[in-house]
Amino acid sequence: MSYFCHRGEERLAYNVVRNTPKMIECFEKTLGVPYPYAKYSQIFLHDFGAGGMENTSATVLARRFLHDDRAHIDFSGEYVVAHELGHQWFGDLLTCRDWGQMWLNEGFATYCECLWAGETGGWEEYQRVIHGKMNQYIDEDRNQHRRPLSTNTYRGYGQVFDAHSYQKGAMVLHMLRRLLGDDTFFRALKHYLETCCGTPVVTADFVKSVEVSTGYNVDRFFDEWVYGAGYPEFTYSWSYDEASGRGTLEVEQTQNDDNDTPKVFGMPVFVTFNRVTDGEISERKWLSARFDDAGKVSESIELDFRPDFMTFDVNNEVLDVTSLANIPEGELGLLLAYEPSGIAACLDAAEELGNRKTPEAQAALLAALDRPRPWMIREAIMNALMQFEKPERVVVAAMIKAVDDADPRVRRAAFRALGECEGNEAAGKTVFEKAQFGDASCLVEAQAFEALGAFQSKDARKLLLEAIDDRDSYHDVIRVACLRSLAKYGNAEDLEMVVALTRPGKDEYLRAGACEALGILGAKLDNAGRGKALDALIDMLEDSGGVVVGGAATGLEGLNDPSVLPLLEARLKTAKGKQAKGVLKSVIAALKRDVGGEDKPSRDKPEPKPADKEEDFVLTPVE
Ligand SMILES: [Zn+2]
Repeated sequence: MSYFCHRGEERLAYNVVRNTPKMIECFEKTLGVPYPYAKYSQIFLHDFGAGGMENTSATVLARRFLHDDRAHIDFSGEYVVAHELGHQWFGDLLTCRDWGQMWLNEGFATYCECLWAGETGGWEEYQRVIHGKMNQYIDEDRNQHRRPLSTNTYRGYGQVFDAHSYQKGAMVLHMLRRLLGDDTFFRALKHYLETCCGTPVVTADFVKSVEVSTGYNVDRFFDEWVYGAGYPEFTYSWSYDEASGRGTLEVEQTQNDDNDTPKVFGMPVFVTFNRVTDGEISERKWLSARFDDAGKVSESIELDFRPDFMTFDVNNEVLDVTSLANIPEGELGLLLAYEPSGIAACLDAAEELGNRKTPEAQAALLAALDRPRPWMIREAIMNALMQFEKPERVVVAAMIKAVDDADPRVRRAAFRALGECEGNEAAGKTVFEKAQFGDASCLVEAQAFEALGAFQSKDARKLLLEAIDDRDSYHDVIRVACLRSLAKYGNAEDLEMVVALTRPGKDEYLRAGACEALGILGAKLDNAGRGKALDALIDMLEDSGGVVVGGAATGLEGLNDPSVLPLLEARLKTAKGKQAKGVLKSVIAALKRDVGGEDKPSRDKPEPKPADKEEDFVLTPVE
């Protein structure tokens, strides 16, 4: 096993790849097929446009994954390592026959990330990662396009490197695993790898392996999820009849059966009826809901208790969108506080409560926060509380309490939320103190400085200027957050300093961040100041590095001056790398939207993909 990086970056590279031997061991054990090649190398490149590339036994990784020991608290970069390593089996040992079968490469490699999540973080982390992938796919489906996973029609190969191939592909494997059970599912994967190795593959090869190795007919599953498009949309309700002691569940599939979407999906949904006594789940009973030909379920079950809440699709075994509109806040709150295994159901409940913004929703969120819940649920509650405009004193108090949370991801969410509490004295004091005294995590510290932009004062401004001077951090995340907050003051005195930081010779991430800040600052200045900001950003648009070009484009979006559109369009033609191109495209679309309502995102016009939420430093999904 070997690793290559630029001189001086050895420790930073080590932090990314240090678990590679364990990962190989994990995949060999799980897949039942040894790592296929005599050696494995990983090479870090500067200004590499994509995240990674799985050349056979010689994976290339982008510089942005490199990080120091302090950043390692927040970020490991391991999911990209797992993804590219997974490709050595799925993509290199066997390779999809044409672009339309891309999910056989990317969906499987993306699922290898989930396997690693389960290995290192257990069931909770596995579910969190799966839930994130599901939402990324649904976002693409709703805002950009819908297509069958396996397809013969595509306009160009770029079209199949989408969240269908990656995220939905991984979800399909997750569902198949839950449907078949672990032993049977991994037996099928082993059969597929062993019989198809060294050959180009199509979906039918995988189906055949599943059927031969397990004896199950999975035609309907593949017809719906791979050859068909979309996913089921559910509404449900339940009731309990005291006299008969029976619980009743009603479910309906409401999706439109256009665009190759099945009218009825056959996957059963598992639900639980739960009772809470003395702060614990005292009763829990499972029901498997099977759909009739009309896509409906009406089933009842004998219960010897009155349920307090029901958890729908407990283990997130179906890729779906479920309406929670019929479920009262009190029940969602109990689910959030007590559901013992359904992490995804809890995350969805928190989001729904945040969207409702009612006093009952607020009470439910705060009550759940008092229970010992996993970090991703605490984080989701913070994100939900952030939705409340003009939050009450008790809500701000809960956010302030969370800045001392043991998990840095929850602390970061707390500062994000506090940054929305402009004008609240207690919030401002907490944010100022954390910014002043710092945090073990550089991302938490950066988030505190970001929030400080909402609480302007003479002291806060002084603190920002001092931090820009002396707070070093990985990829300058702290300095960049300070620059953005300082820019919000709209002070012409800061212009020269910010422009100087955009110039060559500094770290590219600092330069990109300074460009972004320049856009915020310039928009607040008079014509002369604005003109200076514009000139500096146009200069940086011609930089040779993709990171700076992206920053300059974002800065120009901040200035909101449509006269730069021809420049941006010309730069898009010459730009290299997916990352810079993605930013340029989205800035062009945003500026056009502002001038004449053109270029609205629609299903027919693919927009650049949203940043991958899994990896904080990842600006585009990995290859
Ligand atoms: Zn890939």
